[in-house]
Amino acid sequence: MSPARAHATLASPLARRPRRLRVTWVRSFAGVGRVVADLARRAADVSGALLLLTVLSPVWIIRGAIGLAHQEALIEHDRRIGRFREPFRLLRFSGTGIGRGLPVLVNILRGDMSFAGPRPMTQQEADAIPPDGLVRFAVRPGLVSRHTLQKRTGIAHDAEVSADREHYYEQTLRGDLGLVARSIPATILGNRDEIAAPPFLDFFGVTIVNTTMDEAIDWIQARAADRDRTPSQIAFVNPDCLNIAHAHEEYRAVLQGSDRVLPDGIGIHVGCRLLGTPLKENVNGTDLFPRLCERAAQTGQSIYLLGARPGLAMATADAMQAKYPGLAIAGARHGYFTQEQEQDVIDDINASGASILLVAFGVPRQELWLAKTRDRLHIPVQMGVGGLFDFYSGRIARAPQWLRELGMEWSWRLLQEPGRMWRRYLVGNWVFLYRVWKQSRRSPAPHAQGAS
Ligand code: UDP
Repeated sequence: MSPARAHATLASPLARRPRRLRVTWVRSFAGVGRVVADLARRAADVSGALLLLTVLSPVWIIRGAIGLAHQEALIEHDRRIGRFREPFRLLRFSGTGIGRGLPVLVNILRGDMSFAGPRPMTQQEADAIPPDGLVRFAVRPGLVSRHTLQKRTGIAHDAEVSADREHYYEQTLRGDLGLVARSIPATILGNRDEIAAPPFLDFFGVTIVNTTMDEAIDWIQARAADRDRTPSQIAFVNPDCLNIAHAHEEYRAVLQGSDRVLPDGIGIHVGCRLLGTPLKENVNGTDLFPRLCERAAQTGQSIYLLGARPGLAMATADAMQAKYPGLAIAGARHGYFTQEQEQDVIDDINASGASILLVAFGVPRQELWLAKTRDRLHIPVQMGVGGLFDFYSGRIARAPQWLRELGMEWSWRLLQEPGRMWRRYLVGNWVFLYRVWKQSRRSPAPHAQGAS
């Protein structure tokens, strides 16, 4: 059954909460394959929960003894909405301390929850789910969900509803096991919700805006609509860029003079963790680009693509126009031109009337070029995007989603171009972390004030 038809079939009974919803799901929607997969998943959940309960039994004994000594109730619970919108009690130990959430294993044994699945919601949250997201209630809520994992690694750019929907349609036992495995490092290294994120981050004197993908796109769109077409320069920085900025005074000055510097990649995330400051989101250019195209197709703002090898900017333009009908590409041109041809390039960009210019020459060449030509280019938004067109033209494949969720996209790049990338990642990552560690000893948190 196609996902669209499946939505229609399942969303309406899920919305009405019929008494025989389980039967409806099995008979009219799931099919034998899904029911068998469901049983296999259940068997894996029960075995995993029994194993963990056995291994972690000392924690139960210690927590039980503490509860008895303090004459407190051992277990507390919260009301949550489970599969088929049935309410259940989400269990945990009373008080604070290690292993507080352990009783959730009992929820898994009882079948209220799975190891992997959409986040268990409160009644209020469940009532707010739109009809196209109700399919999340056709599976058991999970201890770890795709959206919570992406939040921890800073790449939750899409709404929870769509992550849950994807989980439902793409769910396999292997996928669930992978999700659980990926959640372990993410839980240890990832964002903590309880600490407030500062508006700016500072790494070695470079001020980065601590923002979300949606807010960054709103900002770009607002600047692109500027009637005076006042140029704004945007840069993305990852650990490699910050290492370059550390040694390259001119590049550092350009970043400091940019209107917005955005945090790109897991390295900034890890750097923030070392400094004890939460990063709101990993606003990298590769994830921002399709969202920017989608928005531009709606607003009519046109985009000019400059850079990469001959043919790649045009191939990128074609791919994005096919994906976002109505997207206006003002021009596309490769990034290998001589000093003598530069004025031609600038004239062509200006004549195109583009609202947004993406320059893909690599770091720091693109930032230096934009800073030099900024006032001759009458384009309101000008941004350096590195190897972006290599990905979107299809020349280089992007890392699969599971590797990105692990924060290991860099290892994919390393395997693709080891000769060029080994120094950047195998040496550069450690140099960056060492510098962050040194900075953390001078000032504990990377809060910067007064940046615009
Ligand atoms: N490039 C270019 N003109 C040049 C040098 C490089 O257009 O004179 C392009 C190159 O083809 C590639 C991009 O710039 O598409 C640099 O990619 P890289 O992955 O190195 O970017 P970064 O890692 O700096 O984001």
